Amino acid sequence: MKKITDGVYQDDAGAMHLVIEEMLDAAGYADTRENRETLTRAAIERVRETWPQVAIRVDDEPDVTRVAVFHCPRCGHKSDAIGSSDGSVGTPGPGDVCGCLACGLPMVFDVDPLTGLLRLRTMIRAEFDALSDHQQRELMRVSAFAQQVFQPSKRMN
Ligand SMILES: [Zn+2]
Repeated sequence: MKKITDGVYQDDAGAMHLVIEEMLDAAGYADTRENRETLTRAAIERVRETWPQVAIRVDDEPDVTRVAVFHCPRCGHKSDAIGSSDGSVGTPGPGDVCGCLACGLPMVFDVDPLTGLLRLRTMIRAEFDALSDHQQRELMRVSAFAQQVFQPSKRMN
């Protein structure tokens, strides 16, 4: 990992890692919950200004990766963070799959040929069929979650 500044590191894949404890220390702030939250928000904003498309990981939230803002191709839901369904740690890469938390749409990460940046696109049926049973179940779980939380009036029968 390459150190950018106190509490900010870049890994070999280009993702930024924020170590909030080190930032608090460097800035001379007490390590309280409130200071952590404020500094985390400010640090994400600052990194995002300089590197609009980079993935950001915070040491406090190891299973969440913050990515450039993207919109779901189906429902338009705006999101800027990716979480893993089993709490595992890692930055998404091309070929990884995820589901929209608002409408359940299964999506795939791939690389935009024009910009070389990671993006999300709609998963096609053949790709879904090729997933493992576990991955299919997890995507179905996201879809069920989205229907319960975001579309309470549209229950499936
Ligand atoms: Zn959606």
